[in-house]
Amino acid sequence: MIQKTVKIKDTKHLVGSLPTIRYLDPEFVYIATNNARCPKAEVFIKEGDHVNTYQVIGIRHAAFFDQPIHATCSGTFVGLEKHYHRNGKLTDFIKIQNDHKDTYDPSIKERSPEEIAKLTKEEMTEIIKNCALVGLGGSSFPTYVKFQTDKPINLMLINGIECEPYITADHRIMLEYPYRIINGIKYAMQAFNCKKALICIKSKYEDIASTYEGILKEFPNSGIEICKVKNYYPQGWEVAMIKEATGIKLNPGELPSNRGIINFNVSTMVGIYKAIKYNMPVTKRNITVTGDGINHPHNFRVLVGTSFKDLLPMCGGYKNPDKEKIFILGGPMMGASVPSDDVIITKTVTSIIVLDKTDYKEEPCVRCGSCVLSCPAGLEPVQIMNAVKSLDKERIKALNPLRCIECGLCSYVCTSKIQVTDFVRRAKIFAKL
Ligand code: SF4
Ligand code: SF4
Repeated sequence: MIQKTVKIKDTKHLVGSLPTIRYLDPEFVYIATNNARCPKAEVFIKEGDHVNTYQVIGIRHAAFFDQPIHATCSGTFVGLEKHYHRNGKLTDFIKIQNDHKDTYDPSIKERSPEEIAKLTKEEMTEIIKNCALVGLGGSSFPTYVKFQTDKPINLMLINGIECEPYITADHRIMLEYPYRIINGIKYAMQAFNCKKALICIKSKYEDIASTYEGILKEFPNSGIEICKVKNYYPQGWEVAMIKEATGIKLNPGELPSNRGIINFNVSTMVGIYKAIKYNMPVTKRNITVTGDGINHPHNFRVLVGTSFKDLLPMCGGYKNPDKEKIFILGGPMMGASVPSDDVIITKTVTSIIVLDKTDYKEEPCVRCGSCVLSCPAGLEPVQIMNAVKSLDKERIKALNPLRCIECGLCSYVCTSKIQVTDFVRRAKIFAKL
């Protein structure tokens, strides 16, 4: 069982104010064949083949959709290699040796504003599908599927809240690419014929607020505004964000589109902009590399497929090289641990957190109720844990574990240092049987 053994404190300040390091010309990139949503894949190229940046080099198959695989640099296909994926599993990656020419695939073309203005929702959906755009906040949900809703949308929420500790990659992307984000929002609003969009940020981020309030004056009557929300975790959870931004409380399991709302992560907006404007798939992303296990935490902009080992020297290496490390991909609360630093940055890796492993001792539950009080989904984690321990399937189902968003708070607050979230995850598996 994967366990996060370190209690979390807010350490965004480790990288918050540092500008992003652009590392966009690695010697090799490694493109994942499959992922958690797409367990099967086909590779279209053979060893020795030359590929162009953005070229389709394979396809992933999921239960209800296919997803093209794109090269993120030009160069030579070396072969398949196993590395750790964000899901913690060893996965085949397509290894490409960079020729450092960045030769574009012929499919890349710039659309004029007039061409874009004529695009229908169906045409934009097809472009986004061909670009294999997914939720870049970490959800990896195919963006084109969201575009296919037939519900009328009258409010778009752009999630720039980034509420997990440590991570500041979205904060930086908001400061560094405001025009791409605003244009991405405008294209999405055109697709949905939606007149209002709120860019949701934590109220403490004055730098983002002032940047956008200034730039949005250049887009009068766009319907786009900044919306400041509270500074607590998990404010970035869509249910909490919608409640805070609109006052609407979704019912358990209810889709936002049911209330005329659709939401996207800010990084996904950059992806929408590049897909619609240039036909470009996502080949670069911002990522936070941080944690008290490395010397110099940084934000990076990297090619999708970059190895974490390439970034480590720029972070000054490990702080205590002799100490065993924990590697968390994604935020410390909701991310997944991997057992090695042999990690590749895929489209949906928002951060790599390196922590020195510390031993801890679990104590028996003292029935303090802290986990119940802190659960944003209104569950009773301690009762779910007890039901899992006694393998009582009926009781497990009655406690609704499928409503758990795996925010990690029940483990975080547990007085007895019990990894309660792990029990709830197991309960979700039981509940689906
Ligand atoms: S991880 Fe724990 S606190 Fe968070 S939603 Fe699930 S049960 Fe509730
Ligand atoms: S927080 Fe921990 S000790 Fe307290 S009731 Fe929940 S499981 Fe038990």
